[in-house]
Amino acid sequence: MNGIEQFLLKGNVPRTLHRDKPDHSYLKPAAECKPIVYPKPDGKLTFDRLSSVFISNTNHEEHQPSHLTLRDASVPVQVNLAKYAGPEARYCPAGVYEFVPADTPEGQRLQINAQNCVHCKTCDIKDPTQNIVWITPEGGGGPNYTNM
Ligand code: SF4
Repeated sequence: MNGIEQFLLKGNVPRTLHRDKPDHSYLKPAAECKPIVYPKPDGKLTFDRLSSVFISNTNHEEHQPSHLTLRDASVPVQVNLAKYAGPEARYCPAGVYEFVPADTPEGQRLQINAQNCVHCKTCDIKDPTQNIVWITPEGGGGPNYTNM
């Protein structure tokens, strides 16, 4: 479609292609999907998540309120983990969301490492229940890609 738009029609497309439903509504339950086995990062072209966060020079002032909160703290474990295998622990490129052992009936809780957030906004868009609230952090904190 991009080739037709750019090369054939020279950008003069008579109508805009769009989807009728928000992106998060397309997420399938884990039971309907096959796990994908990704190759390990090679440290040359591909990197692990924490190395990538380090390169981004992400910094948020200490002791500020978290810019990532949950509307309902029970949803990540009871819905996202149970039905979707915890997508927030997978799609976040900075490893902000972690399911950790907890003294709860489910035995787990969602830990939010907001200081690592690189502001990609994937969680705001992709969370299947739209339970994650992303607000701008205080003090202009966030990633700082010095070579870009
Ligand atoms: S915006 Fe959300 S998905 Fe992106 S890095 Fe921050 S917490 Fe992770």
